[in-house]
Amino acid sequence: MKKLHLATVWLGGCSGCHISFLDLDEWLTDLAGHVELVYSPLADAKEFPPDVDVALVEGAVANTDHLRLIRQVRERARLLLCFGDCALTGNVASLRNPLGAPTELLERVYMSGADRRAPLPPDTGGVVPQLLEQVLPVHAVVAVDAYLPGCPPPAERIHAILEPLLASELSQLAEHEVGEVG
Ligand code: SF4
Repeated sequence: MKKLHLATVWLGGCSGCHISFLDLDEWLTDLAGHVELVYSPLADAKEFPPDVDVALVEGAVANTDHLRLIRQVRERARLLLCFGDCALTGNVASLRNPLGAPTELLERVYMSGADRRAPLPPDTGGVVPQLLEQVLPVHAVVAVDAYLPGCPPPAERIHAILEPLLASELSQLAEHEVGEVG
């Protein structure tokens, strides 16, 4: 039987949500029997692929790379889950918002707030993504299908949400395959 295509995405977050995902321990072995991990910081895919069934998104939308990626995720994934509080609300990632626009922020961090006046990051012609004016939760940019709260969400909660969701997706996939054969 075809496996579900699962993706995990890392935007503006500390990777703690992904570490919690790894805390699923032995259930990851069961999971591997039913899903193919087609995109993830835990895998080596460079481009977000088409035809993803479920995408878990960690982190807020903080720069132009995040913006491009989350729009691509929304176009290509059938179900998009906000994975942790940074994706849900901005959380830690959005603590910079009250400090002002990116130019003021960079000036404060690299110049006025620094012991040594390091130069500002150079304009790299787009190689380094530009900061957005404000850090945004994922739902402010694209439609979200489900929310998985926590900082990070504990492994038990990830399991409790993913297991029935994936079971339902797998049964739909099986029905679709039977329909195709018939
Ligand atoms: Fe890190 Fe918490 Fe944000 Fe997850 S929700 S990326 S653990 S700060």
